[in-house]
Amino acid sequence: MKTANKTVTAERLVRDALEKAEHFRDYNIFTYINKTGAIQKAREIDAKIARGEKVGRLAGVPYALKDNFLSPEGETTASAHILERFTSPVTATVVAKLEAEGAIMIGRTNLDAFAHGSSTENSYYGPTLNAFDQERVAGGSSGGSAVAVALDIVEFATGTDTGGSIRQPASFNGVYGLKPTYGCNSRYGVVAMASSTDCIGFFTKSPDDMDLLMSIASGRDPKDMTTLPDYYNNTKSGARLGDSRLAPARPSLRGSGAQSAPVVANVHETPTRRIGVIKDFDNKSVDSEIRNALKRKCETLKKKGYEIVELEMPALKYALAAYYIIVPAEVASNLSRYDGVRYGFRSDKSKDLDSLYENTRNEGFMPENKRRIMIGNFVLSSGFYDAYFLKAAKARTLILQEYEKAFEQVDYILTPVSPSPAFKLGEKANDPVAMYLEDIMSVSLNLAGVPGLAVPAGKTKAGLPIGLQLVGPRRSDKQLIEFAKELD
Ligand code: GLN
Repeated sequence: MKTANKTVTAERLVRDALEKAEHFRDYNIFTYINKTGAIQKAREIDAKIARGEKVGRLAGVPYALKDNFLSPEGETTASAHILERFTSPVTATVVAKLEAEGAIMIGRTNLDAFAHGSSTENSYYGPTLNAFDQERVAGGSSGGSAVAVALDIVEFATGTDTGGSIRQPASFNGVYGLKPTYGCNSRYGVVAMASSTDCIGFFTKSPDDMDLLMSIASGRDPKDMTTLPDYYNNTKSGARLGDSRLAPARPSLRGSGAQSAPVVANVHETPTRRIGVIKDFDNKSVDSEIRNALKRKCETLKKKGYEIVELEMPALKYALAAYYIIVPAEVASNLSRYDGVRYGFRSDKSKDLDSLYENTRNEGFMPENKRRIMIGNFVLSSGFYDAYFLKAAKARTLILQEYEKAFEQVDYILTPVSPSPAFKLGEKANDPVAMYLEDIMSVSLNLAGVPGLAVPAGKTKAGLPIGLQLVGPRRSDKQLIEFAKELD
C-alpha cells in the first residue's frame, strides 16, 4: 500500500482518491465525501513528514468507511432514512486505530440499510453498481466499500460481516475481503445488526495489506466486552494451526512431499497440510463456472503437495434457517432504539408520542428492516420462542461442533463464497427468499464465529469475478491470510 513520504505527499494521495471518487460517481459508491476534512488531515501529515517527525504505518493512505461506522466526520446513516442527519459524538475503536496510524477517510460508503441485504439494493440512497458490469449488483451489504477498492479509488475500505457482507461483495468485485474471528476486532462504535455474529473487517487488494490492517485493528477493547486479547499480533508467521485451533492438533505428523517419509521428530519438517472441501456445496445449485474454479484451485494445491479431503458437514444445511431466525431476533432488539426521539430522522406527522414512534419507524425503515423486525419479534414471542429461537440456537451449537470436528481433520476449508457471480440489478429485489439463499455458504461461519477470507479466483466467461472462501478455526486469521498467498 502506498504511504506518503517526502516525494509523494499525503495531499497528493488524498486528492487523487477524491478525483477518482468523482470520476466514478455513477456507481453510487459514497453517501458522503470528506473533502475538506481529508485534505486538512493530509496537510497535517505532510507537515510532520517535512519536520522529520515519525508518522504512522498508514500515513496519508486514503480509505473508505462503510457508513455504519460511527465517527464525527459526516453523518453516520447506515444508509437508512431513520438515521438521516445523525452526527455521531463518538468514534468507533477501529476508526480511531486506523487514524492513529495516519489513514485518511475520504468518504463513507453505501450499504443495504442497517446492513440487511446481499446486494446494496436495500439502501435508502439506491444501489451501488458492480465494478465489472454496471447492470449488476455490487453485492452486499458492504457494496460501496467493495467497489471503492475494486475501482482503485482507495487502498482499502472497512466492512461489517454479520452473515457474508464482506465476503460476498468482495467476491462479486474481485478483491480480498476478510471476516475475522468473532471478537478479534472491536465492534465499539459500529451500528449493531446482530451482536452475536457481527464482525468488523476489511476489503483490500492484497493479502499483505490485509495483514497490515489486521495487525492495527485487532485486540482487546475495554469498550467491547466480547473482544479477545490480541492473538493476531502474537501469532507467529508460518505457525501451524495446531497452536490456535479449538480442538487438539492431529496427533500424527506426516512427511511432506511425494515420498511421504516416515515421521521423525524433526522441528524443521512441515507436515502435509490438508484442505477440506464440503461435499454438499458441490451441487447443481452452484454455478458451474464457480465449481470449476474451485476444482482448479484444488488441483493447484495438490500439485503444491496439499491433500484435499472431502468433508461431510450435514448440520450446515440448517445454517441458513438458523441464521434467519437468530439474526432477525437480534435485529429486532437492536433496532428498537430508533424511535424518532434520540437519533436522526423524526416524522412530523405525529400528534402524540405513540404515533411519533409509529410514523417515524414506518417512514424511516426500509421494507427489509421492517421484515426483520417482524420476524424477530415473532420468533421471540412467548408462544413461538421454543419452536423457533430455541431450535435455531441448538442448530447453531451443532454447526459450531461440526466446524470443530472438521478442523480436527483439515487445516483449512475451501468453498465458494456464493452460489452465483454478481446477479442483475432487480433480479432478486422482490424475492426475499432468493436473496437470503445468496448467503447459503457464508452464514455458517458467523454462527460458529470462525474466520473466512474471500479471495479472487479468476473470472467467468462473461468477465465477472469469481470468489472463493478460505475458512479456518477460530483465531487462525493470520494463517488464513498467509495461506491466501499460496492460492495465487
Ligand atoms: N446478507 C446477509 C443478510 O442479509 C448478511 C448481511 C451482513 O453480513 N450484514 O443478513
